[in-house]
Amino acid sequence: MLHDDADSGTVIDTGYVSHGAQTVALVRHALEGRRLSRLVNTHCHSDHIGGNAALARAFGCTITIPTGEARNVTAWDTEALHLDGFGQRCERFAFDSTMTAGDRLTMGGFEWQALAAPGHDMDSLVLYAPEPRLLISADALWENGFGVLFPELYGEPGLDATRATLDRIAALDVATVIPGHGAIFSDVDAALERAYGRLDAFARDPGRVTRNAFRALIVFHLLDRQSAHVDELAALLEQASFFAMLNARSYRLEPGALAQKLVTDLVAAGVLQVEADVVRPAP
Ligand SMILES: [Zn+2]
Repeated sequence: MLHDDADSGTVIDTGYVSHGAQTVALVRHALEGRRLSRLVNTHCHSDHIGGNAALARAFGCTITIPTGEARNVTAWDTEALHLDGFGQRCERFAFDSTMTAGDRLTMGGFEWQALAAPGHDMDSLVLYAPEPRLLISADALWENGFGVLFPELYGEPGLDATRATLDRIAALDVATVIPGHGAIFSDVDAALERAYGRLDAFARDPGRVTRNAFRALIVFHLLDRQSAHVDELAALLEQASFFAMLNARSYRLEPGALAQKLVTDLVAAGVLQVEADVVRPAP
């Protein structure tokens, strides 16, 4: 949430659809009496656009998305938006304008630049404000890694794009990063070093990109739904086209066995917990 002036504010990205009411309440609180005039999306994944429809309804704000996503959102292309076939969901929304790399926006009293950040999503943008040295990094750079390299799984050069994006971020003068997931951080060099290391590991073993995608999508699915029976996850792995495609070219396991394996791995990693075959995100 950015306070543009005494009367209005801008929100960047909006979380999961299932948290819509909570997001509206949090935004209303953060506005401190202002109106929400504008909503800006860094990219169009379910965990970044899920609250768009609810916020537009509650506040009548405009919605700005990256130009590269306009066609997918207009047509509501659930495959391109990584929804049904990926075990994710989102309420449909309409946008008012688009932004392109190189565009400048005034938000929170500062001038921001939209920068291309392909890799996790080829159309994603990050937002950089030189004066306060702030970077809104979306899923291009987290304190510990970055988002799933979806393009790479479609045969597009996601690894190369990610390297170029990290190089672009490394060239900026950044004091503070507001990532798409996790806490705000300031040790940008250490985060970049971890991200490059992760990228090198993916380049050495492309199977890691696939395993990372399975794990992340299962976790996101559960963060949205809060809980699921292992049998429901098995059905999801069988029915959702992206999972079926990944399984066919990696694990090649029966859906039940694959669900069990992923849950076991994610419980061991401390990310999920399971009780009587009901799986939840770890607290
Ligand atoms: Zn994303």
